[in-house]
Amino acid sequence: MRSTAELIAEKRNGGILSEEEIRFLINGYASGEIPDYQMAALAMAIYFQGLTPDELSPWADAMLHSGRVIDLSHLPGRKVDKHSTGGVGDKISLPLAPLVAACGVKVPMISGRGLGHTGGTLDKLESIPGFRTDLSVTQYIDQVAALGVALIGQTDEVCPADKRLYALRDVTATVESIPLISSSIMSKKLAEGIDALVLDVKVGSGAFMKTIEEARVLAQTMVSIGERMGKKTVALLTNMKQPLGRMIGNALEVRESIEILRDEGPADVRALTLALGRAMLELGDTDPNRIETALADGSALALFAQIIEAQGGDPRVCDDLERLPSAAERVPFVASRDGYVSAMDTRRIGLGACALGAGRATTDDLIDPGVGLEMNCRVGDLVTAGQPLVWIHHNGRGLDAARAHLTAGITLGDSAVEAGDLIFERIG
Ligand code: URA
Repeated sequence: MRSTAELIAEKRNGGILSEEEIRFLINGYASGEIPDYQMAALAMAIYFQGLTPDELSPWADAMLHSGRVIDLSHLPGRKVDKHSTGGVGDKISLPLAPLVAACGVKVPMISGRGLGHTGGTLDKLESIPGFRTDLSVTQYIDQVAALGVALIGQTDEVCPADKRLYALRDVTATVESIPLISSSIMSKKLAEGIDALVLDVKVGSGAFMKTIEEARVLAQTMVSIGERMGKKTVALLTNMKQPLGRMIGNALEVRESIEILRDEGPADVRALTLALGRAMLELGDTDPNRIETALADGSALALFAQIIEAQGGDPRVCDDLERLPSAAERVPFVASRDGYVSAMDTRRIGLGACALGAGRATTDDLIDPGVGLEMNCRVGDLVTAGQPLVWIHHNGRGLDAARAHLTAGITLGDSAVEAGDLIFERIG
């Protein structure tokens, strides 16, 4: 076996590493034998040279097996999850998980926190009074057995190699690498004990991937990792050129999710929830047409209340939205002129919500659950000067910064534009 330095040089020069060499590198890093500085150099070599499919497969597999791979095979039925690459106002996991589980497919879901301009499912759920996402793996398995669904955070046992490598990439400018992103996401998802996975790959100004071409490559790479590991994987490429739905901010997004489960709520959130849900039911060998029934007959909402109760939260929020935390003040951000909403820089809008306290700049920052932005316009709308474009829900923190982000994030122009499709294409 060549030394670690020789393997780094091989990759730097565009060479190909063998399966044995890749397992040596990941296992050595996970055990602490390979130090951060060598892994940082290797990550940079991969950033420039990429990984071939024959390298990526053992890389992802070694990451997956660096920790505990949860086994749910003793539970009857198919287990299917959804993962989104992250966006602004993307609360889809909240209505989707109970909706799909209410149709009979098990949904074991391990989610992340928001970082940067994007929100995280865990922060949203924790805005429900009492809700706990820090269940043990045993509690997680028991809840999937009892309710068919559990919504928890990552534990230290799952994919420790990714935990270390992701933190290292974050500070060495090596996050934006398709093989590293795809293996990081897929190793964590495949450790949940699923049979199949639906990926929502976001495209546009609020997403990691700014163009459809980049998003397609990321989606194809993740689908091929899943398929090589024997898990059916489907990806939808979806629009993140403007925030999803009306609400951005933790409790505000829970509110909107409950509206969806009441068979109400914004059309785009509903349409994407149904499209992802149908894909999950297909992979779960269940009739996709059941999805509308589970919304209309209230069974998905009833299951969401059961999940909240099982995880220590107050299920009465489902009947009474006023029990969710809210901000002390709501003020308008108004249009500076007459015109069409011609474009949104969704990342800036997400940063506006973060400035109010809805997200974090560093992992230690505290979230303010009630604050956020209520969008009152969509791309393509004709607006008049003085009309509220956004309602800012705030508690006195970051109001000026939020206004500056909104000024930069919403462009008014003279000609009408199309908002574009919600779903661009399906891969897999
Ligand atoms: N999300 C992840 O989990 N990993 C990445 O590398 C990027 C986004």
